[in-house]
Amino acid sequence: MFDAVVIGGGPAGLTAVLYLVRSGCKVLLAESMTYGGQVLQTSDIANYPGFPKGVQGWELADLFAAHVEGLDFEHVQAEVTSLSGEAGNFTVHTSKGDYAAKTVIVAAGARHRPLGVEGEARLLGHGVSYCAICDGNFFRNQPVAVIGGGNSALEEALYLSKIVSRVYLVHRRDEFRGAKVYQDRVAKAENIEPVLSCVVDSLQGDSELEGIVVRHVESGEKRALSVNGLFIFVGMQPNTGFLPQDVQTDHGFVVTDIEMRTSVRGIFAAGDVRAKLCRQVVTAAGDGATAAQAAFLLLEQLNA
Ligand code: NAP
Repeated sequence: MFDAVVIGGGPAGLTAVLYLVRSGCKVLLAESMTYGGQVLQTSDIANYPGFPKGVQGWELADLFAAHVEGLDFEHVQAEVTSLSGEAGNFTVHTSKGDYAAKTVIVAAGARHRPLGVEGEARLLGHGVSYCAICDGNFFRNQPVAVIGGGNSALEEALYLSKIVSRVYLVHRRDEFRGAKVYQDRVAKAENIEPVLSCVVDSLQGDSELEGIVVRHVESGEKRALSVNGLFIFVGMQPNTGFLPQDVQTDHGFVVTDIEMRTSVRGIFAAGDVRAKLCRQVVTAAGDGATAAQAAFLLLEQLNA
């Protein structure tokens, strides 16, 4: 039996593994993809301490992976499908089998929320994308639209503006939500055109995206934008589908106390999966450390 199963290999999960292993715990890390989580989909990370000139997402993910490499823990590349049991005796059900654990740290992160417009799923990979760093290069010197007004939309619009010919930054309100530093950069970028107070009315194209039609939220006036790419950044949804019903959530995000304890004893949550104010790499790492320490204290009680 494992002392802890950590679900998710992003900054929160890898930090939890680091702390648990250093505390002498027997740990399994379940991650369905490669280490790094959303960091891998981020271009430049400008606010992680220790990197005054910023750091590329893939580079930071590599450094996180290198930090746990060689540590004494087990790793399974599998999808967690459900979680049952109680503190001291959980079963983590995965696509590669079941694992017994005394505690569980849920660091499964979040994924981009779809816009919900007709044709979005059909045109995914054929013009529609949720990842500028993955797909931006396909639209080199072509016009694209970015949807959203938060940090992700602004940051990714800035990233794309260096590759594509023109970025239409479509936001449903007349002011952006994202940080001022990004707003200022967007205002200075010559090839980013803010399209404010507009929502996406429809997508054009059968097998490839040929354009979008946006609609002004007050006047109802429609405008066709001829774009080859559509990058959607309208918020995140947490990866919690495998959690038992009695784990309390808020708008889908897992509720914890300040020690990362969920409503179910023995289950802890860390990182973007958690209901919290600030979703950053640095707070994810902090959550991971706290969750590991709290799990360790509970393990001491369970083992007493
Ligand atoms: P977010 O902050 O929740 O912003 C989502 C944006 O999408 C908002 O502007 C929202 O409009 C808009 N939106 C939501 N639903 C929509 C819909 N159906 N149609 C059109 N627009 C819609 O999400 P995010 O930008 O993905 O960021 C997620 C978290 O990660 C945030 O906490 C963010 O601060 C953090 N993050 C930080 C950084 C950084 O610090 N460098 C980078 C990326 C993300 P309204 O404004 O009208 O609500």
